[in-house]
Amino acid sequence: MSLKGKTAVVTGSTSGIGLAIALAVAKDGCNIVVNGLGTEQDNAKAIAEVKKLGTRVSFDPANMLRHNQIADMIAKAERDFGSVDILVNNAGIQHVAPIEDFPDEKWDEILALNLSATFHAIKAVVPAMKQRGWGRIINIASAHSLVASPMKSAYVSAKHGLLGLTRTVALEVAEHGVTVNALCPGYVLTPLVQKQVDARAQTEGVDDAESKRRLLAEKQPSLQFTTPEQLGELAIFMCSPAADNVRGVAWAVDGGWTAQ
Ligand code: NAD
Repeated sequence: MSLKGKTAVVTGSTSGIGLAIALAVAKDGCNIVVNGLGTEQDNAKAIAEVKKLGTRVSFDPANMLRHNQIADMIAKAERDFGSVDILVNNAGIQHVAPIEDFPDEKWDEILALNLSATFHAIKAVVPAMKQRGWGRIINIASAHSLVASPMKSAYVSAKHGLLGLTRTVALEVAEHGVTVNALCPGYVLTPLVQKQVDARAQTEGVDDAESKRRLLAEKQPSLQFTTPEQLGELAIFMCSPAADNVRGVAWAVDGGWTAQ
């Protein structure tokens, strides 16, 4: 229970990777602010799962596309829990289309959520973290922070930008006991990736298993999906004293994708 008494805000934690990270840090004793834009039923299910671990849990429905709602969420968490010690910037979306057909509004939305929301959240938590002399900021980036794939112009641009933001802020807070790092997963089987599996199954006329096999074979040499639970454990490590001097890294968890 090394995170007992600390509080984490995990954006987009009603599903997938965010939920797994919220569960992992809650299991380690951390209070949690769950956030997300899922259905009422999905949100309630996620909150109940985190609450079972016995720490203090609240839900904030802030839309991470609205910077005033982000600032309000952080201020409320600081008021209610006394501090925000850990910020996990995880909320993200994907859209796949060739550049000439890429919808303008999807470009704007992906940049706003996958990059700008992280800027606004970091800006809101850093002053108090610096004052307390301890903080952990974990940005859920991607293999696409390091390499590109066709049809993902907005996502790749946002995730590359996110790594630049990670490194910049890591340097700015380096003397304050606040670490800022990026986790860079390859394919993780969450609703975000299942949509790509479904689309491929349809266009290539194959079943779900074959579509998954083809997706992995194209990029991920281990031929295994990274699991949300593995990312939860890595988040715990990033919050541990062993990671005190890990600063501004892009930590690949991608089955060898970016080693190629
Ligand atoms: P997911 O679709 O399962 O979950 C996304 C979460 O974000 C949900 O809780 C959703 O409600 C929330 N969300 C969406 N829009 C929001 C908004 N405007 N405001 C607040 N919350 C919002 O996705 P996931 O696969 O778990 O992805 C989580 C993060 O991991 C994303 O940043 C994604 O880019 C990144 N990532 C995922 C993979 C993968 O293979 N799944 C790989 C690399 C990186």
